[in-house]
Parts: sequence; C-alpha cells; structure tokens
Amino acid sequence: YRAKECGGNCYFIYSEDLTRIHKQWTLGSELRHVVSRKQLILHYQPRFNIRTNRMVGIEALVRWSHPENGLLAPGRFIDLAEKTGAIVDIDRWVLEEACRQVRAWQLEGYPNVSVSVNLSSLHFKDIRCVEMIREALTATGLSPACLEIELTESGFIEEADAAVEIMHQLKELGVSIAVDDFGTGYSAFHYLKKFPLDTLKIDRSFIQNVTCSQTDEVILQAMIDMAKKLQLKVVVEGVETEAQLAYLREQECDEVQGYLLSRPIPVQELETFLSERST
Ligand code: C2E
Ligand code: MG
Ligand code: MG
Ligand code: MG
Repeated sequence: YRAKECGGNCYFIYSEDLTRIHKQWTLGSELRHVVSRKQLILHYQPRFNIRTNRMVGIEALVRWSHPENGLLAPGRFIDLAEKTGAIVDIDRWVLEEACRQVRAWQLEGYPNVSVSVNLSSLHFKDIRCVEMIREALTATGLSPACLEIELTESGFIEEADAAVEIMHQLKELGVSIAVDDFGTGYSAFHYLKKFPLDTLKIDRSFIQNVTCSQTDEVILQAMIDMAKKLQLKVVVEGVETEAQLAYLREQECDEVQGYLLSRPIPVQELETFLSERST
C-alpha cells in the first residue's frame, strides 16, 4: 500500500524490496564463509553478584567483522544464519573460542573466570550438540564447571523430549544450563520442572519500567520468587540505571548484567577489567 501512497509509483517499492532481498541474499552467502575467513569476533559482557559487586562470570557475544559493513551485531545475522544453516559452524566456533579464551585467562592467573555461551535452539533438537560441547571442552582443557550454555525457551519447548535428553547429558558432563530472555517466549512455567535448569536470565524488558510501573514490578517479583523457590539462580539482564539496581538489591535476585555495570567489551578491555575487579 506504500505504492498507493506515492501515487501508484510501484517501481519505487519493488526496487526497495528487491534491494533488501538482494542484500539479505548476499549476506546469507557471505555467512557461509565467516568462520573460514576468520571474520567473527567475540565480545564479553561481565555478570556481577548483586551483593558483593564482584564479577562472577562473563557472557560471550558474537560479532561479525564484515569487510564492507563494519562490525555487525548478532541481531543482523543470527536469524539469517539459522535459516541458511551457517549457525552450526558459527556456534561451534563461538563455543571453542570462548572456552579457549577463558582457559587462557585462567592460566594467566584468573582461575575463577567462567563463561556463558549462547547456543541457537536448533542445536537442542540434535543430540550431536553434546559432542560439540564435549569437544570444545576437551580441545581447550576448560573444566565443564566453568561453562554455562544459554538457550531460549522457544527452542527447547518445541522438541521437548530431545531437549530434555540433551540437557541431562550436559548435566552429566558437568555443564550448567541457563534459560535466556526468560518471560518473552512461551512462559509456560511447567517446563521449569521438567528441564534440569540451573539459571534463569530474566529478560531486560521486565526491568525496564520496574521503577515506574507497578504491574511490571509485580510480574518481576513473581518471576524472581518462583525461580528462587525452584532453587534456580536468578540473573536480571539489561540493568541500565542505578534505580533499577537499587530495586533489585531489595529482591532475592542473585546476579545482574547490563550497560550500567558494563557493556559487552572486546578481549583487551575485559583483561583490564579482570586485573582490576577479578573474582
Ligand atoms: P542475549 O543472549 O540475551 O544477550 C544480551 C543482549 O543484550 C546483548 O546483545 C547485549 O549487548 C544486550 N545488552 C546487555 N546489557 C544491556 C542493557 O543494559 N541494555 C540493553 N539495551 N541491551 C543490553 P547482542 O550482543 O546484540 O546479542 C543479541 C542476541 O544475539 C543475544 O541475546 C543472543 O540471543 C544472540 N547471540 C549473541 N551471540 C550469539 C552466539 O554466539 N550464538 C547464538 N546462537 N546467538 C548469539
Ligand atoms: Mg544470552
Ligand atoms: Mg537475554
Ligand atoms: Mg537472546
């Protein structure tokens, strides 16, 4: 209907669409080579214990250093990579790179660093992902206790039986499991019983208005309470203001992550962080 708005000038809208499709198609074919061309990099965002203010872990977040378009955030390419299948190679690379980096930091004198890695839910339909994770640990020498896998609700609910089996094998291996963006997906609480989860990461949309919306406050509090009663660790993502942090200090929230404390940062900056605020 955009064409009507501009007086039947259809050429405009078609060419705009085609340009967009062409761009996506080009990105999609370039994505197949991101690993072999060494175009991926990891940034790390620290996670903090809310009582001690200590850094207790870091999350690996992938970026694509694109030769023409600069540094691309995952929002620009993860969906596409899932559609084309490139996500398998990308996630394998991320997993191994994160384990390698964290093991290196441990050997350099920061023995307590542990890392969280986001895996596409596609992996949780395929038992081979356990091998992928085991291989990354073996290849890098990182202890399984120092690795947490983050995945989103939608991913494991779709094929619950496969996911539950994979999770049990991961637990056996000694790896922890976190639900990412909690509250934004199916929000079916029954699965919290069914799956062997360790951590709930409450989506940042719930903290955003907590200091001015009573509804949001009630929902957030209920989520935290429920998680604690199920003996899950609670992390709130996306903390951006002092007021939000102060609010969370009064809750039973365990850990926080957000721009207020640190954005995701490149390796060198994280090293500065480690030397100043090591666990
Ligand atoms: P996520 O795992 O929920 O990661 C948190 C996202 O929120 C990150 O965006 C982070 O930069 C951003 N963030 C952190 N603190 C704040 C804050 O205080 N305010 C705001 N507004 N944002 C904050 P990023 O790095 O763009 O990643 C987006 C998503 O892409 C991630 O969401 C994750 O689902 C996915 N992703 C990232 N790396 C990987 C990966 O290696 N593999 C897969 N499959 N997905 C990945
Ligand atoms: Mg995450
Ligand atoms: Mg999240
Ligand atoms: Mg996410």
